[in-house]
This record gives sequence, structure tokens and C-alpha cells, in this order.
Amino acid sequence: MRAGQTLFAAVLAFGVVSRAGSSMQIESKLPQVGTTIFSVMSQLAQECEAINLGQGFPDFEPPARLREALARAVADGRNQYPPGIGVAALREQIAYKTEALYGRSTDPGTEVTVTSGATEAIFAAIAATVRAGDEVIVLDPAYDCYVPAIELQNARAVRMPLLQPEFSIDWQRLADAITPRTRMLIVNSPHNPTGAVLTADDLDRLAALLRDTSVLILSDEVYEHMVFDGALHQSMSRHPELAARSFVISSFGKTYHCTGWKIGYCVAPPALTAELRKVHQYLTFASFAPAQWALAEMLEAEPEHHLELSAFYQDKRDRFRALLADTPLVLQDVPGGYFQLVDYSAVRDVDDATFSQWLVREVGVAAVPLSPFFETPPESRLMRLCFAKNDATLEAGAARLAALNATAALRR
Ligand code: PMP
Ligand code: GLN
Repeated sequence: MRAGQTLFAAVLAFGVVSRAGSSMQIESKLPQVGTTIFSVMSQLAQECEAINLGQGFPDFEPPARLREALARAVADGRNQYPPGIGVAALREQIAYKTEALYGRSTDPGTEVTVTSGATEAIFAAIAATVRAGDEVIVLDPAYDCYVPAIELQNARAVRMPLLQPEFSIDWQRLADAITPRTRMLIVNSPHNPTGAVLTADDLDRLAALLRDTSVLILSDEVYEHMVFDGALHQSMSRHPELAARSFVISSFGKTYHCTGWKIGYCVAPPALTAELRKVHQYLTFASFAPAQWALAEMLEAEPEHHLELSAFYQDKRDRFRALLADTPLVLQDVPGGYFQLVDYSAVRDVDDATFSQWLVREVGVAAVPLSPFFETPPESRLMRLCFAKNDATLEAGAARLAALNATAALRR
């Protein structure tokens, strides 16, 4: 058989091409899903040689100790499968941190699971507990990976808008949304894309609301170490009643400036952890071993890194906001996270997708429009800028955005 024929035979065996040779049609399980807005904007930023303030990732390196520890882990032969649930030393550090920060005594053996990013933990928590016909309440705007994970279970995402301008929970609407079919509520604090944070009072209200239900909570806390102006991160782990029904999920990618390493984790009570681990076992089995060893060393040796992260990012937030004061963009408050929402309505009266495309092509700055985070996007003219960047990047981005003054002047 010639090479071409071999390839054709292989393709036939996998059913990609039909007998007649035309492309096989397959009914999508996720017909609404395309490429994520984050990938789209990063690609456009590259094509247009724009300053990328879109996709959320730092343009600076992880701490030197962590990079050295990763290289050492590889050199020392930490290269085979680690325990599926995560390297013990790392799970112990996560348990220690959870207790030290949030006062929750945590068993690394039965309550901590290391995953391939928070994304995997989110998928595994949903797949492990949500059944066909169940409802999962999602608060809009919502990070993009929740709804597809719900829909793949043949469950329904019940999307409920947060109250603008603070993006706080509409408690009455949330109470009304809970039905006997509600299996899970997803919360995210600090919040992507808005930066909103839950308060201690919010946690008490949530506990009261769910007290007589069997609703589980998926708490996405990947920005847990970026809470500003002296506020405390209100982890579900701080609240014993809520912790008892929660998957608390975080990511080392955010905390250690290594989003490409894709190591995250889930802290949950033993019964929830046991179910999550069943899915994790067959989704990935285990996560990248050398990074787990390196992170375990880092957490033990430099706990000040995460303790000082809020101050580090608050400084970046303030610097960026001061730079943007010279532009016609109106700044929303940023209580946490690493994104700045801005209202661009003084510049152009167009929808956010159109504005972001124009901005990256004509002004040379990539941002993320807000509408993809909603089921029903509101009328507001908001977009998201990431300030997890070197000062030089923030300055260059703001300098380009200052050119918007000329466009705004034409409208006046
Ligand atoms: N949740 C939120 C709110 C995020 O912003 C992100 C992306 N950074 C994730 C989850 C996914 O985290 P990871 O990259 O660790 O999968
Ligand atoms: N969390 C990042 C953001 O919000 C993106 C991660 C991704 O591209 N999947 O920009």
C-alpha cells in the first residue's frame, strides 16, 4: 500500500471520512461553543502586534525559587506518574494553608485533590455530582467553562444576572431560582470578569438560603490571594456550614504567575472529594508531577509569596488606574482579582464585540468584551483589561488608550 492509501485506510478505520469519501457529519454536543474569547483576543493581539491586555495571564515570570525547583524536580527524576490525587507533600501544604488562612482543619488524605488547573477541578466537580435534568445556578457574568460542563451532563444552567454596578447577588432572585431540581450553585469570588468579592455577610445569607436544601456549592476561588483595600477573602472554607457542601477550587497558575503549568486543586469534604476523585481518575488520572514537587517546596519555603500577593496586585491596580485617568474610559471599582472593567461609551456607541475588534486593530490594545460572559448581555458598554502586567506594559497600553481622547472629542 502506498503512503496515501495507508492514511486513507486509517482515516476510514476511525470513521472520519464516510465510504463515499465525503466528510462525516457529526451532531455537536456543544453547538453553541466556538473558540473562547480569550484565545480569540490573544490571537488577534498577535496578528495586530497589539499590547495584550485581554486574556488573563501575567507577562512576568514565576518566582525564581519555583522555576529552579521545577528544573530540579525534573533533574532529580520526579518524572513518572505521581499519586493520582496529587503528590502528598503538596496536598499537605494545601491543607496547611487552608487551615492557616481560613481556620478550616483539612485532611490532605481525604479532602484535597490536585488537578490539571482549576478548569479540570470545575469539570470534575460538575461531572461527579450533576445529573441529567438537574439545574445548576450560574451567576452572570460568568467565567466561560461552567456552562459547557453543565450542558455535557444534560443538565440545565439557570443563569441569573448579578446586580450592576457592583455585580452583587440579587438575593430574592436567587431564592426564587432554587427549585427541587437545583443541584448546585456556582460562585466565583474574587470574580472574573468584574472583580467583585463576596462579603462575610454574603456568606451568612447564602448559608441561611441553602440551609434546608441539598444544593451543593462550587466555589471558584482562583483569585483568592488578590483581595484589595484591607478586605479579607471570604472563602467558603471560612464558613463551616458552607464548607460542608462546597467544592472549593483554586489554581496555582494565578498565585505563582505560572498559568501555563495548569496545576489547580479542590478542597472538599470527604464524601464530595471521593466522587470528584472518581472523575479525576479517568479524566487525567494525575497532573504534571515535577510542577507538584516544585509547588510543594515553594509553599513551604516562601509562604510570604501568597501572603504578599494582594499588596503586589493592589499596587498594579492603582498604577494602572492612575495611568487610565488620562483616557476617556470610565473605571469601575476593582475590589479583587486582576481585571479592570472600563466603560468606553464616551468613545464610541457600538457593541462591545465591535469595539474590541476596532480597539485591537486600530488602537493596538487587546481587551476582552463582556458580552460572552452573559446568556443575555446587558446594554452596558463595558470591556475588561488585565493589569497582571509589567509596569512597562501597563504604561504602553495606557499610552495607546490615551489616543482614544481624540476619538471621544469627535463625538462631543
Ligand atoms: N476560574 C476562573 C474565574 C478563571 O479566571 C480561570 C482562568 N484563569 C480559571 C477558573 C481556570 O484556571 P486554570 O488555568 O487553573 O485552569
Ligand atoms: N482565565 C483567563 C481569563 O479570564 C483565561 C484562561 C483561558 O484562556 N482559558 O482571561
